[in-house]
Amino acid sequence: MLSERMKRLVPYTPGEQPQDRKYLKLNTNENPYPPSPRIREALENLDIERLRLYPDPLSTRLREKLALKWGLHRDQVFVSNGSDEALSFCFYAFFGSERGKLRFPDVTYSFFPVYCSFYDIPYETVPLNDDFTIDMARFLTEGGCGVIFPNPNAPTGICVSPEQVIDLMENYPRDRVVVIDEAYIDFGGESAVPLIHRFPNLAVVRTFSKSMSLAGLRLGVVLGDKALVSALFTVKDSFNSYPLGAFSQLLGEIALSDESYYHSITKEIISTREDFTRKLSGLGWKVLPSKANFVFAKKKGVPGRDVYLGLKAQGILVRHFDAQRIRDFVRITVGKREDMERLLAAAKEHF
Ligand code: PMP
Repeated sequence: MLSERMKRLVPYTPGEQPQDRKYLKLNTNENPYPPSPRIREALENLDIERLRLYPDPLSTRLREKLALKWGLHRDQVFVSNGSDEALSFCFYAFFGSERGKLRFPDVTYSFFPVYCSFYDIPYETVPLNDDFTIDMARFLTEGGCGVIFPNPNAPTGICVSPEQVIDLMENYPRDRVVVIDEAYIDFGGESAVPLIHRFPNLAVVRTFSKSMSLAGLRLGVVLGDKALVSALFTVKDSFNSYPLGAFSQLLGEIALSDESYYHSITKEIISTREDFTRKLSGLGWKVLPSKANFVFAKKKGVPGRDVYLGLKAQGILVRHFDAQRIRDFVRITVGKREDMERLLAAAKEHF
């Protein structure tokens, strides 16, 4: 019954969302704090009449608010149903085999190779340096149809600096696109968004799922030159005219109005991360220096899978990737302080 294309498809495996028992969920980088109180207020006052009509297919008001936040024009802003959708549209719009292979780090967001297979885009992975930093110079070797990397990288949590991004962009061919996935940038990195004025071939992808605590809403963003944004609209309108519901658009706008709340929960997560990193290192773990809302860590002599299973037996979920170079690690989302204390106690007792 299936097409040949379908038979070849290998999907991404998302982190577990168990429905059976209550776990301490430190496996999908969700925010441990609730969304802004203004979101609750708005939800209590939603006008159901709005559901009778289709939503604005251009998400105009939400894009205008985002443009205002970033000092851009709304033509430089695209919004999507989660940033995974935004990434997928970027792959379709900007990368293709006729200009060679797409480059991304060998250890990175594991959705990237999945989009490549979905859209038939050949790719080449660039090995991380031994300290797990991204080898930016390798992106500049001759050829290729584009570059994509998360900043901070996932699942390492390690950042590249704005100077490194500028150096890449200054030396990269202007007729090929560089996509930076900034899903975790608010937790300590420096955004490349101001650079899009200088580099029309730079697209920056962002999400409301992490620092804005709205993973369940599904809101993603792409900021870039208007020619790039216009291409993304063409992809969207070839796929689904209304990927964002009326209430998603509205709640996105409301979230953007409460920067001080988000600033305060982000500050708390950063401080918890630093404290947790110090304590876990104190227990003899190797913890990579993270600027995200998760840490990537390993205990010498204990396979990552055993750490994952051991913690799961204690009711704590973390993420393990059964992939070369990172098999010994687990990725631990930074939760509330008491969550991290519970994990530290389990780590101390069992590993
Ligand atoms: N980019 C990276 C690096 C991620 O880890 C995630 C979360 N899995 C996403 C993008 C997608 O997030 P969302 O679709 O919730 O915006």
